[in-house]
Parts: sequence; structure tokens; C-alpha cells
Amino acid sequence: MKHCRVAIIGGGASGMAAALAALRVPVQGGGSKAEGSVVVFERNRRTGEKIRISGGGKCNLTHAGPVDAILEEGFLRKGERRFLRHALHSFTNEDITAMMDAEGVGLEVRPDGKVFTAGGDANAVAEALSRRMQRAGSMLMYASRVMRVKRREGMFELDTEGGMFRAERLIIATGGASWPQLGTTGDGVRFGVSLGHKKTPLSPALAPVYLIDPPCNGLSGIALRSVTLHASSGKEKSSRNGDVLFTHRGLSGPAVLSLSRDVALIMQSTGSCSMMADLFPFHEEAALEDELLLHAARNGGQMVRKFLQSCPIAPTGRITGGNHPNGTIPTAFVACILRHAGIGDDTVWGGLQKKARHSLLSVLKRFPLGSVSKVPMEQGEVSAGGVVLGEVNPKTMESRLVPGLYFAGEVLDYTGEIGGYNLQAAFSTGWLAGTSAAQPPQE
Ligand SMILES: Cc1cc2nc3c(=O)[nH]c(=O)nc-3n(C[C@H](O)[C@H](O)[C@H](O)COP(=O)(O)OP(=O)(O)OC[C@H]3O[C@@H](n4cnc5c(N)ncnc54)[C@H](O)[C@@H]3O)c2cc1C
Repeated sequence: MKHCRVAIIGGGASGMAAALAALRVPVQGGGSKAEGSVVVFERNRRTGEKIRISGGGKCNLTHAGPVDAILEEGFLRKGERRFLRHALHSFTNEDITAMMDAEGVGLEVRPDGKVFTAGGDANAVAEALSRRMQRAGSMLMYASRVMRVKRREGMFELDTEGGMFRAERLIIATGGASWPQLGTTGDGVRFGVSLGHKKTPLSPALAPVYLIDPPCNGLSGIALRSVTLHASSGKEKSSRNGDVLFTHRGLSGPAVLSLSRDVALIMQSTGSCSMMADLFPFHEEAALEDELLLHAARNGGQMVRKFLQSCPIAPTGRITGGNHPNGTIPTAFVACILRHAGIGDDTVWGGLQKKARHSLLSVLKRFPLGSVSKVPMEQGEVSAGGVVLGEVNPKTMESRLVPGLYFAGEVLDYTGEIGGYNLQAAFSTGWLAGTSAAQPPQE
């Protein structure tokens, strides 16, 4: 059985950061590069497969700005923000950008704060980390899946495709369970549970939402800007404001990706979930009705269809005149609105009965998108759930139950929003876990 000081399962963003940090800590009685002291087990033939496909192949590797703003905007749940605070301060967005700079990987900060590779090449990030890791002296075991992990006599025994290993410290950095074809099949959560940890079930997040039936035919490719999307089943409700894109199977776009975690949880707990869109989120229903009434009184001969075709979507001020930052209701969507409101194509405002006006108002405020069939885990950018945060020390990433055991990255029960937050959290938790795991034992 081979021996190592620190074993890291997973050569993704968090595992590579952990190895780099562990190799900075001097080994007792030697340098930090003692042969085989840090071993990374990666089941793929190369490291960082998810980094390579991230950000549409351009890698949105972090977000610009102060750490507290990153926590606030990137992690919607308070408990997750609290857990990640120390890690994100230990290895910041500036630390990862400086590391990329030192490796000659150019970056650009977009106006919305997302930090991407300047050359649009996500591979460059994975290669830079891999190169640095090898230079630092970590031993990389490629195509080496860890099958089982046991704790014996204060050490960890790893049963791997490359043989048996014994490690003094173990870092589980196996990622989540989305995109399983890239090696992330939830193994780390299984290892955590086998070592006594509790888990929150894994579920999709930052994923598209599939619908049982599309609300109308021919909407695929149409985008609704800045609407409010509501998901609900019984008493369970959640909503997000942002852009929504119709796809051939359902919905995507920023608001959908962000809401998908809650949609999946609603589906899990109630077995169903219906979706609605508020096309006028900045107008109370009564105020919108007043504006429609005023418009109808002044334009009795105008077809409702014509009005809707030039009607702003999600206006922040008056619906007629003024500044419309979100454009107008897409023409292809207008027919769909009329159909759902039960209003004929040629109906003019003067001929619109009160009941039909109320029906139109209701559709504009609660456009029925239909029932969810699935939130596909395999299409999610991340998975939610994982090893519960309360059993891991946020100051060190060490297990509160098993001394010498550490967790890093998406295997933990946190989920970031789109914007570089997930990779930053993986780098930060990995760095902190690596630094902590490499410390000499306390006498
Ligand atoms: C399509 C897509 C686009 C994304 N784009 C972005 C983006 O632009 N910005 C952003 O911030 N986030 C993005 N993400 C999310 C981000 O990639 C992940 O959150 C991040 O990679 C998680 O890092 P990790 O180290 O925890 O896990 P991973 O990077 O997934 O690494 C885990 C590694 O562990 C290995 N492994 C698993 N089990 C075993 C085992 N038993 N034995 C050995 N090895 C094992 C896996 O092969 C994998 O290489 C994207 C994700 C996807 C799928």
C-alpha cells in the first residue's frame, strides 16, 4: 500500500486549488515538495474538465468586486454566505486573477462584473492550474477513480483504480452530480456519508426547466426581458426577476437558471410545479388596469393586438410613452397572450367587454407558462445539496466529525448563482482545505 501525507480526491477547480495550497505549506523535516506528499486522484485523463467547458468555453472564472458583495450577490442563502465567508476571504477573486496573470492567462472584466478569459479559452485556465500543480510537486494520478474510502487507525485508506493508498489527511473535492459524463457522479457525497456525514439530497440547479406542454407553439427562441417568473405548488412558492428564453423543451435564460434550484425542490417535495410570468412586474395590478382603461378610453378604435405589439415589456414607468428599457412584447408572443385571454385577433378596445379586459389584465400579470415536467440534472451547471455545512468547520474546511478529513467545492451543500461565483467558491474552499490539511499535527 502506498503512503501519502495529503490525498485529494478530484482534480477539478477545488482539488487543484487544494493541491497548490497544500504544497505551499512546508513539510516537517523537509521542504514543501516531499515526493508524493500530496497526491491528486482524478478519474478523467486530464484535470479540470468542468473548467474547460465553463462559461460556454470561455470560463467565467470569478466575479470582480469586494468579497462581501460577491457573497451577497452570488449566494442567495444566508447559511451559505456565512459558511463561505472565511474561505472567500482566505483566497479571493484577486488571488485567482493574480495566479492567472502569473501564468500568462489574460482576463477581462465585463461591465456586469463577470471575469472571463480575454482570449475566450477556458482550457488555458485548466492548463495553467495543472502546470502550476506539477511544478509545485504534486503527484497526479490520472484515470484513477477512487472507489471506496475507509478510516483505519487514524489514517484514510483509499481503494483506487491505481491501487491502494494510505493517507494521513484526506480532502474530498469530487464536485457535484451535474454533467455526470465529465466524472461528477456524486461519489464524494457517498464517501462523506460512509465516513459518518449527513447529506442534503443532490438536486439540479442553474439548469433549464422542461415543461409538459409549451404555452403556445412557435415560441422557441423568443426572449422575454426583465419579467418576474413565479414557480409554485400549493404553499411552496419562489420567484425571480430577469430574462426568460423559450426553448424547444421549455424555458431557459438567467431568471430560469437562477430559479431552477427552487423549482427542482418544489418538484421534489410536492411532485408538481407550475410556472407563471408577470410581464409588468413594476406595476401593481390596479395601476396597470388604470393605465389600460385610460388607453382604451382614448383609443377605442385601436385593435388590442396592435396595442400589444407596441406595448413595452416590464416597463418601469408609464406603459404608453416614456422610456422602455426592456423593449416591447415580442410580436410572436402577442398572439399567445390574446389566445390565453380569450380575445379575438380583431377586437378593438371599444369592443372589449369588462370580463375580457380583466382576463387580459390577469394574463399580463400572470401569464400561464404551464407545468414543469423536469429540471434536468445532466443539463445543470451545478447541483445543489451535498455534505451538510453544519458538520464542516468553515474556518478550516475540516470535518467536525472526523479529524483529518476535509471537504472542498461543490461536494458541499452550497450553490452559487451564474457569474463566476461557483468557480470562485471552489477555488476558495479548495485553497482553505489544502492549507489546513497540510498543517503539521498539533502535539
Ligand atoms: C456547462 C457548465 C458551465 C459552467 N460554467 C461556469 C462558469 O462559467 N463559472 C462558474 O463559476 N462556474 C461554472 N460552472 C460550475 C463550475 O464548473 C463548478 O461549480 C466547479 O467546477 C466545481 O468545482 P469542484 O472542484 O467542486 O468540482 P469539479 O470541477 O466538477 O471537479 C471534480 C473532479 O472530481 C473528479 N472525481 C469525481 N469523483 C471522483 C472519484 N471517485 N475519483 C477520482 N476523481 C473523481 C471529477 O472527474 C472532476 O474532475 C459550470 C458548470 C458547467 C457544467
